[in-house]
Amino acid sequence: MAAPRRKKPPLHLSDLTLAQRRERAQELGLPAFRADQISRQWFGRLVDDPAGWTDVPEAMRARLADQLTPALLTLVRSQEADKGLTVKSLWRLFDGALVESVLMRYPADGRSRARNTVCISSQAGCGMNCPFCATGQAGLTRNMSTAEIVEQVMAAARSLARGEVVGGPGRVGNIVFMGMGEPMANYDAVVGALHRLTSQAPEGPGISARSITVSTVGLVPRIEQLAAEGLPVTLAVSLHAPDDELRDTLVPINTRWKVREVLDAAFGYARVTRRRVSIEYALIRDVNDQAARADLLGKLLKGRLVHVNLIPLNPTPGSQWTASRRKDEQEFVRRLQNHGVAVTVRDTRGSDIDGACGQLAASDEGMES
Ligand code: SAH
Repeated sequence: MAAPRRKKPPLHLSDLTLAQRRERAQELGLPAFRADQISRQWFGRLVDDPAGWTDVPEAMRARLADQLTPALLTLVRSQEADKGLTVKSLWRLFDGALVESVLMRYPADGRSRARNTVCISSQAGCGMNCPFCATGQAGLTRNMSTAEIVEQVMAAARSLARGEVVGGPGRVGNIVFMGMGEPMANYDAVVGALHRLTSQAPEGPGISARSITVSTVGLVPRIEQLAAEGLPVTLAVSLHAPDDELRDTLVPINTRWKVREVLDAAFGYARVTRRRVSIEYALIRDVNDQAARADLLGKLLKGRLVHVNLIPLNPTPGSQWTASRRKDEQEFVRRLQNHGVAVTVRDTRGSDIDGACGQLAASDEGMES
């Protein structure tokens, strides 16, 4: 399937720093401040339609839009779950590659304020081949560009701002790189996206690095590199097993970087950034949910700046695996807590529309509607 792709995604505002956008405007024979104007429209006012760029002369708008805001993501379809509070979008990229993103709204309750989380993709497909993950089954199509990554967030930001999503107008609060793809295998584009997303308007949407989570299978050199970027994003490490024998099968890249190395990199990340690292663990019935594994995990993580996120497995089509029994899940939680390890069980938003963790697998079916 890996046909050579000659063309790169068109260059977009979101690929560029503000300084680069000014240069680009000048290359087009326009004054540099035009780049500031459309940047303010795009990231500050969330106006993507050039007709609304009223501070730019009408005659100039189409040309600027053509050159700086080409359509990168075309909506193929969107699906709702959880009474409309979860929205999964399937996007077609310029070359026909498909990716998905998921918007999840959490209304205010007694404990926390309302928040909106966008789960985004960093690659079309994924090359990591984890057997329990839907995306892994189809392999990698290609890396996404910085702007293709960023624009998933901007699309969600616009539809929230316009009040198009159940729950009334809102803003993007959190971003999680837990959609399709392995972010650390597309490092430069992902770090570019992190810079853009955390820049204040007019350079970017000004989302706090602390509200962004990058999830990885554990590409150790890249975790170390990310720690040195000076971007205090939250790191999530998909561990899924505390022992190499099992992890070799669940997360095949473990044959390259072992549990010990991955955890050391995670602890190093926590030390450098002072950010608590999230350890992701999908509980799979009778595969990785035994009490002995909970104890081993507890021992490995005891006293570290980490938090365990247990994810009830979302079964993927054709898989013989399923989520753990309730009592095994509870016992797993209890044993981790006995080691003094912080642990939560993640809710499975959007599982009925295959929008939950690990279920994103854009298929050709999506092209029909
Ligand atoms: N490639 C990155 C990010 C994408 S997946 C990573 O692996 O971390 C985001 C999270 O969903 C990961 O922790 C992944 O292991 C988990 N996941 C994948 N498939 C799943 C499934 N079927 N059920 C529950 N979680 C799953």
